[in-house]
Amino acid sequence: MADTPKRRSQDKSADTATTNPKCYCVRCGTAFSRKKGYFPVSHSPMYRGSGHLPWCNDCIEEMYEEYVRDLGDKEAMRRMCMKMDLYWSESIYAMVERSAGTNSRIRNYIGKTNIIRYIDKTFDDTLREEAANAEPVDRFQFPVQEGEEDAEDDIPTDPAIVEFWGPGFDHDFYMELDQKVDIPLLVYNIPYRTCVNMTADTLAYLTEHMKHLVGIKECNNSPAQAIDMIRRVGSKINFLSGEEFLSVMLMALGAKGAVMASANLIPDVWVKIHHLVREHQTQEAMDLFGNYTELIAAMFSETNPGPLKYGMDLIGVPCGSTAIPLTPVSDAAAGRMKKAMQELQLI
Ligand SMILES: [Zn+2]
Repeated sequence: MADTPKRRSQDKSADTATTNPKCYCVRCGTAFSRKKGYFPVSHSPMYRGSGHLPWCNDCIEEMYEEYVRDLGDKEAMRRMCMKMDLYWSESIYAMVERSAGTNSRIRNYIGKTNIIRYIDKTFDDTLREEAANAEPVDRFQFPVQEGEEDAEDDIPTDPAIVEFWGPGFDHDFYMELDQKVDIPLLVYNIPYRTCVNMTADTLAYLTEHMKHLVGIKECNNSPAQAIDMIRRVGSKINFLSGEEFLSVMLMALGAKGAVMASANLIPDVWVKIHHLVREHQTQEAMDLFGNYTELIAAMFSETNPGPLKYGMDLIGVPCGSTAIPLTPVSDAAAGRMKKAMQELQLI
């Protein structure tokens, strides 16, 4: 059998001498004498002017094969539909699967989109149908604890707070932890980093029910929540403030102490403050704290512990660099730290 030249070159040479204007494939640039037979029929309003897709059959097959290599057959077919504004449907795909036509699979598919049932549909219909059939996304709902409604009658929680932070983990989460370990447990409540707040209600429940709970490091910067916690559980567990700017007040109100990042830099100051508060010398404690507010503000002007690590370097206690995603101190924060430390004669 003699070699048959490829259809494209056949067409090219044949068309050159015939009809004008020519039909060009927008991908390969080949000129054809007519659309029919060389470009698939399209009923998409995108191609209303010609009634055909602007890619020749060969190009469509090539593009499809490229997608098949990357995406597999079915997804390749859907992607082609998206590109060509054809209706994508699982049922047409199933028909292609079943048929044994001589056309390539993609041309087989395109042919079936032109049967009467699908003729007016485009990829917009696909998107509409997929959106209509999509499973609604359920927000996870924490189960309501027995007796929780009563507890909430005691101190009403501002709905705006719950809306913002969510209700937090449910009691079972902590109770399970309590059963699995045999070590003292300290709650670390830091919602601005974890996006989950432990409410005073939850803490009160856990204080009653957990075997291993010994205290909380409270970093929610709401004084109202902290005070509520101290009032309800402060005599049973160790309430420790984790917020520099609230801790003197909270210790005066009954917090047992504080867990302070800045205590790395000025441990003696915090020991003194704690001692003064225990001796009911609250004003002296406040005055002493007042001297260090600019340093502490500088420390937290960027994400802790970047500025703190810089400060530790300055006092000769190098603590290494920050680990990603935390970033090292900026020049501005470093300058502010250094100035504050100089004024306090820490360096
Ligand atoms: Zn082409």
